[in-house]
Amino acid sequence: SKDEGRKRFSYFTPEMQETANINRQLTQELRLAIVDHDFKVLYQPIMCLKTGEVHKAEALIRWHHPELGTISPAEFIPLAERCGAIIDIGNWIFSTAAKQVQHWQQTLDPDFQISINKSPAQFQNPDPSADSRWIDALTHLGLNKGICLEITEGLLLDDGSIIHQRLQKFQAAGFEISLDDFGTGYSSLSYLTKFDINFLKIDRAFVSDLENSLQNQALCEAIIVMSHKLGLKVIAEGVETSNQLNFLKLAECDYAQGYYISRPITAEEFERQLKSPTPF
Ligand code: C2E
Ligand code: CA
Ligand code: CA
Ligand code: CA
Repeated sequence: SKDEGRKRFSYFTPEMQETANINRQLTQELRLAIVDHDFKVLYQPIMCLKTGEVHKAEALIRWHHPELGTISPAEFIPLAERCGAIIDIGNWIFSTAAKQVQHWQQTLDPDFQISINKSPAQFQNPDPSADSRWIDALTHLGLNKGICLEITEGLLLDDGSIIHQRLQKFQAAGFEISLDDFGTGYSSLSYLTKFDINFLKIDRAFVSDLENSLQNQALCEAIIVMSHKLGLKVIAEGVETSNQLNFLKLAECDYAQGYYISRPITAEEFERQLKSPTPF
């Protein structure tokens, strides 16, 4: 009833009300931001630990709001998911990353790969031809293995068999799949055998204190050994120190990503770095 509504409303503090207002405003502006070119994509290098080379990057979106400045994706992606704008935003990131990786495959490295984040909400696209549009686009650009989809365990949680089929279709068309944020959330080891995943990303939480925490050392080592036995490659996220990097190298982790190697940077800066005498 109206009364209950009013009562619930009264539990809102002024700060909560302000947050709600800002969120409502941002939600309205999300759709305009694509048209107005206020979104940018940054690329964070993913380094191969065997060779020290970089032929992978993760695409990370930024919103440069005309009045509020840069807004973190941690803030606006959840809003975009709730209002549905995530579908258009996700399509925009995909086509931006696909064009970028085509360029880098032609000019830098024929095996270059860009990872993009695809949240569970993006897999709930009501458009039944949404998957095949991405698949056709990848095929059309001739980008075998050019795009890796970073998914989270939440996606695998329910409805396993349908998601399984959809992921297989993506993979058959040349996409690869990473399991992001591994070790947080609803981790179940059964996902690793049920789904044919290419990469496992160890969450930053296990990497951040690697030099001091024997537990994190044990967990990282065990995850790497287990992944290799299952045929998965491992990417460690959030590497911030040389000690962490060295530990991961010794543990035979395949790839590392983090501020120690580079923060997320623009495509131009990425190219400049890769072509410099001392890349990353
Ligand atoms: P994520 O997918 O786990 O991405 C990694 C986040 O960790 C990024 O934050 C990255 O900038 C940050 N990071 C990388 N290295 C380090 C490090 O060494 N130390 C620390 N402290 N942080 C590091 P960012 O760019 O703010 O993105 C936050 C989250 O927003 C992402 O987490 C992802 O879940 C989501 N996101 C970002 N871009 C997209 C997108 O294009 N689509 C979707 N669906 N989600 C996105
Ligand atoms: Ca990610
Ligand atoms: Ca992650
Ligand atoms: Ca995350």
